[in-house]
Amino acid sequence: MITKSVQILESSSNWQQALAQAVRDPAELLDMLRLPEELLPGAIMAAEQFPLRVPLSYISRIEIGNPNDPLLRQILPIAMETLSPAGGQLDPVGDLDAMQVPGLIHKYHGRALLVSTGACGIHCRYCFRRHFPYAEANPVAEYWQQTMDYLSRNTEIQEIILSGGDPLSLSDRRLANMLQQLEELPNLHTVRLHTRLPVVLPARITDRLLKMFTNTHLRCVVVTHINHPNEIDEAVRRAMQSLKPAVSSLLNQTVLLAGINDSVEVLTNLSQRLFATEILPYYLHQFDPVQGAMHFAVPVEKGRQLMQAMQNSLPGYLVPRYVQESPGAKAKISL
Ligand SMILES: *Cc1c(COP(=O)(O)O)cnc(C)c1O
Ligand code: SF4
Repeated sequence: MITKSVQILESSSNWQQALAQAVRDPAELLDMLRLPEELLPGAIMAAEQFPLRVPLSYISRIEIGNPNDPLLRQILPIAMETLSPAGGQLDPVGDLDAMQVPGLIHKYHGRALLVSTGACGIHCRYCFRRHFPYAEANPVAEYWQQTMDYLSRNTEIQEIILSGGDPLSLSDRRLANMLQQLEELPNLHTVRLHTRLPVVLPARITDRLLKMFTNTHLRCVVVTHINHPNEIDEAVRRAMQSLKPAVSSLLNQTVLLAGINDSVEVLTNLSQRLFATEILPYYLHQFDPVQGAMHFAVPVEKGRQLMQAMQNSLPGYLVPRYVQESPGAKAKISL
């Protein structure tokens, strides 16, 4: 039954419709994947704090009947989230202190990050912005003029990072609008999108999007967010193949997550799969200690051992940099 609905979606180019059909009901998800009913009360409780959201195309890559599937664990709300182990924070990376205009985060020299929308194609349980006040800090809706003024005044900013939420959950028309206005900033030469949508919903790579990237004079960099090799299926590979010639660089960031990708085999395999998908590994992020997701934390010592093991078995260009976001620092901290 799942296979059937997924096939229908893939033959349709309407990614917005596919997003609207994302599963939000924990009972429905457990039923589709034939998972034990005992998981339901915890899932409902945790989803009240941060709703479940997962498109069918992503569900199709999850193994039926396996509660430990590494993709499932990224999206299934669990009771543990509602307990509050020590160390979890609401804003672990200091986003709010670095906000210059609501939604515009200028922490590092030469580049500024725009929270371009609060919407995402999928809800990742480990998300460090799961408590971000999107409703009050939506630059595109309410603070666009202030944002543009800030960017024009601060001529050292040469690169804009569109983040979110997920910038590719905006329509092509709204993205084109934004790009057109950014093009008028004389010092800006690069626009970078941090997005999970191409892997969650490969149909998002539309012809219009490709044209937009090709036609702008700005250099376009796309940083995908892929955590596990099983996330890359044939549809993702094809989407990336079409995206590659339209952008300057195609990079990936991964969050190191306990029980999901904290093994040499998985990380090595991920790097190789990324390369076969035209993507180079960029960052391996130490988990940001966000409240409600502390069960995903991997100790830095273990992360370092994994990095060493990866260095011993991969060419240098397939080894990501192991970093941590630190409030107030001038750059991400190299671990
Ligand atoms: C991660 C991040 C960047 C980009 O940093 P790079 O090291 O250039 O990838 C920029 N601004 C903010 C606020 C960030 O969190
Ligand atoms: S897509 Fe990105 S911003 Fe959205 S929930 Fe996942 S990690 Fe967070």
